[in-house]
Amino acid sequence: MRLIFLGPPGAGKGTQAQVLGERFGIVQISTGDLLRRHRAEGTELGKAAEGYMQRGELVPDELIIAMIERELDALGGRGFVMDGFPRTVAQAEALDASLARKGWALDRVILFRVPDDELVRRLSARWVNPRTGRVYNTITNPPRTAGIDDEDGGPLVQREDDRPETVARRLRVYAEQTLPVVEYYRARGLLTELDATRSVGEVTHELLHALRQERAAQ
Ligand code: ADP
Ligand code: AMP
Repeated sequence: MRLIFLGPPGAGKGTQAQVLGERFGIVQISTGDLLRRHRAEGTELGKAAEGYMQRGELVPDELIIAMIERELDALGGRGFVMDGFPRTVAQAEALDASLARKGWALDRVILFRVPDDELVRRLSARWVNPRTGRVYNTITNPPRTAGIDDEDGGPLVQREDDRPETVARRLRVYAEQTLPVVEYYRARGLLTELDATRSVGEVTHELLHALRQERAAQ
């Protein structure tokens, strides 16, 4: 299974990608998580990405595309779900070229739809495990103990770019640079839209339903 999750920041892409990864053994490729890991390790890429991420802007395409190619090369034959990539049409075109070189095709692109006011609410209450990328929400999906990951007992933190000013910037960047990617995949007949305002469990249910229909159609 080769999937892409599209949608604005806070729509629940990472949450559902984690569920699918655990359920189907496909690899979750989150460019945001990869970049945060590079920053934590102080790599050249991490240093180059830092300013853009702090401002809520996109990291330049050539850096992201090179990073994704390394991830694709490491997959072997395993399936994947990409969350947070592609975010520009240039990234989508580069992904198409990389997949074609490998003889691979995308099965489906899922668009997570959530209105802006709900995104702002979700992001202001998001806590993450910086080591694993596991996501919680103090309102909708709290950990058993505040500030502690249920799975590995590690500390949870709030992301610096989840501050309201930066969230507003990220939503503008999504509308300007990533919405054209939605149309790119719609034009190719790959897009399935999902009402992602419902609970995590309900969204998972819808998602699995959409993927079953996709399999039945193949
Ligand atoms: P994205 O990867 O799209 O930026 P996340 O998966 O990190 O979004 O989710 C953003 C926040 O919203 C997190 O705090 C997460 O726990 C919470 N969340 C995710 N899905 C839902 C949902 N269906 N209903 C309510 N809150 C959700
Ligand atoms: P995310 O965790 O997906 O919300 O991403 C956090 C930040 O990482 C974004 O605001 C961007 O600065 C950067 N980023 C993540 N993925 C991409 C991408 N595909 N293209 C450009 N920048 C990205």
